[in-house]
Amino acid sequence: MPVGSLTGRVAVVTGAAGGIGGATAARLSREGASVVLVDLDGDAASALAARLEGEAIGVAADVSREEDVERYMDAAVDRFGRVDLHHLNAGIPGTPTALPDLGVEEFDRVIAVNMRGTFLGLRAAFRQYFLQSSAGAIVITASIASLRGSSDLLPYHASKHGVLGLMRNAAVYGGPLGVRVNAVAPGIVPTALFGSGDGPGGSADMVQRASTTPLRRAGSPEEIASVVAFLLSDDAAYMTGEAVSVDGGASIVNSVRP
Ligand code: NAD
Repeated sequence: MPVGSLTGRVAVVTGAAGGIGGATAARLSREGASVVLVDLDGDAASALAARLEGEAIGVAADVSREEDVERYMDAAVDRFGRVDLHHLNAGIPGTPTALPDLGVEEFDRVIAVNMRGTFLGLRAAFRQYFLQSSAGAIVITASIASLRGSSDLLPYHASKHGVLGLMRNAAVYGGPLGVRVNAVAPGIVPTALFGSGDGPGGSADMVQRASTTPLRRAGSPEEIASVVAFLLSDDAAYMTGEAVSVDGGASIVNSVRP
């Protein structure tokens, strides 16, 4: 995509104080967009916003709370007058727990952020497009977990399957309105999402697992951000309803040989 291809656009990125969201905010800013960085950690979001090349603000918000989502949209419109692009990216993994021991509170906690937060973000985006009488583009962060099950992260995997359902429904609804909705499905990207411990699911373990994928390494947040930027740009003008795996080939390997 040509440099500066998002000049004049206004973008909201959720989970923007984290690895993938922070890299996306920086990439969209470099492409010329004004960026609203939304995160539970508003101080970190504001600090990152201050370091970006273009205009940017940070907003503290919990994406699972209806009033917070309305508030971050209001803050974006107050500052920049409109919102064109959304990266609905905030997510949490939950605590590894075997199914018989999984409590309703833990299930609801993960679903609330990953699924309800995505639904609320989608709804707010469409309401804003109606208000400003314009179309736009939306990218949801799904996961390789959207395609597979696991033995101990049921709410995470279920929610990441769920966001693909949200994405496809919003894409069908939004298509005639000129609104494109896609998803990016990262593989293993070392960020704060993984525990720092040495055990299973920790950062070191995940990097080791990534070394067995076709590209033989983990990805970087910037490698996810570049695909998000492409999907939000006019270069992807004929793409909607698509989940793009960015996983070094991890999802194409047949781990159960017939
Ligand atoms: P991260 O932990 O670095 O960033 C997540 C950010 O989301 C954090 O800054 C956190 O404060 C914020 N957040 C959490 N709950 C929130 C809430 N309720 N409201 C607002 N902000 C909230 O993790 P990351 O790896 O950058 O993850 C970003 C997204 O990518 C997540 O949806 C995650 O599931 C997905 N993902 C990550 C990987 C990976 O390997 N890192 C792989 C597949 C998918």
